[in-house]
Amino acid sequence: MVLRFLIFLFWQLLGGAIGWWQGSAWGAALGAAVAAWVWFVLDMWRGGRMLRWLRQGDVQRGLELYGLWGEAVERVRRLVRQQQDLVRESDKRLQDILGALQASPNGVVLLDEEGRIEWCNDTAAEHFGFDPQRDALQSIRNLVRDPEFNAYLAEHDYARDVVLEGRSSTPSRPVRVSVHVHTYGEGRALLLSRDVTALEQAEAMRRDFVANVSHEIRTPLTVLTGFVETLQTLDLEAPDRARYLAMMAQQAARMQSVVQDLLTLSRLEGSPLPGMAEWTPVSSLLQRCEEESRALSALLTQNQAQGHVLEFDTGAAQWQDIAGSPAELQSALSNLISNAVRYTPGGGRIVVRWERAADGGAVFSVQDTGPGIAPEHIPRLTERFYRVDRSRSRETGGTGLGLAIVKHVLQRHGASLDIRSTLGKGSTFSVHLPPARLRSS
Ligand code: ADP
Repeated sequence: MVLRFLIFLFWQLLGGAIGWWQGSAWGAALGAAVAAWVWFVLDMWRGGRMLRWLRQGDVQRGLELYGLWGEAVERVRRLVRQQQDLVRESDKRLQDILGALQASPNGVVLLDEEGRIEWCNDTAAEHFGFDPQRDALQSIRNLVRDPEFNAYLAEHDYARDVVLEGRSSTPSRPVRVSVHVHTYGEGRALLLSRDVTALEQAEAMRRDFVANVSHEIRTPLTVLTGFVETLQTLDLEAPDRARYLAMMAQQAARMQSVVQDLLTLSRLEGSPLPGMAEWTPVSSLLQRCEEESRALSALLTQNQAQGHVLEFDTGAAQWQDIAGSPAELQSALSNLISNAVRYTPGGGRIVVRWERAADGGAVFSVQDTGPGIAPEHIPRLTERFYRVDRSRSRETGGTGLGLAIVKHVLQRHGASLDIRSTLGKGSTFSVHLPPARLRSS
């Protein structure tokens, strides 16, 4: 500022000196006045350039000015640059936060004070069927037309969550979404949504499972209690007592089978996957399966006119070893044969095969000429306690858990189960064993 004043004074003196030289005292006054005007006009011109430069908005564009105006230009430029850096920084932080919310496995919706959607991530868009661009600033009440949800929003009591049907829900593939609102700031809200379909299904399965187990145990227990009361109250003859005791033993055995199968299932679920270290000759597994099934067949058809025709076409299993748990594999394979034996009436034919598969693996199959299974039951056969023929299952000591155990064992060994059946003609249960689990011995 002092320098500016000195320059102004220098111009005055210069004007005054030239004026003095030209026309003494009056000339000096005129010279000083002209110098002041020239100074003023030049200053106005430079100020005007700066103003135009500011109005154009692009302050990074070059403008060469000296002195006070030059410094002002430089300071404005620096200030704007600082502001731009700040905006860029906060924009990056906002993008990072939105990126994190986008990556969240839960749906996230940001609502303004009026309940309008400010932002939502793709998961929320999928849960509610929003279009993040089109539906921005739309009221969520208009977009989610679920009375339960609207009642929840109107209540303003967000201590609990509310479970709604997802937008992509269909009767065959229901989708359930849990929604929870959290308020923040001045009337704003964060809405979180979570797909709870699997959770609800697991909970329903758990309830069904407990109900099924209770039923399976309670039925023989009721019969058993009835017999105990009879024995306690009636003075029975020895043959009658023996008959009652035999029936009681049968019910106790039934309960024992259910408990044993339940324990097997829980062991399968809780134990580590069978490794590749233990190799067992396939022929020895099949040998035991054959012995067991022939014994079971003889037992079940002892009172029938004809027995089963049991064929074992398992020559290809010679010199082959299988990796995994021999006890689990044995139980799975013999379960499939025992089902064929139990459901096929006397005189029927059961063929057990072991074949090498094209991919280097093997196929174990059990084909029977039993009653067959209607197509609608096939996908559900491996569910726990699912039975097509309840009475035949019970009569032959079935628990309804056999195929669930088979499925588990096969999954644990990387194998798959294929069921083909024609009602009235028979069924074929095939197991495909992966090449990695087999080797030549
Ligand atoms: P279960 O102990 O009742 O035999 P499983 O889980 O082994 O239970 O089998 C489920 C149901 O599948 C059986 O109840 C039966 O109705 C049907 N099933 C299984 N194997 C056969 C078969 N070879 N032929 C006809 N039905 C079968």
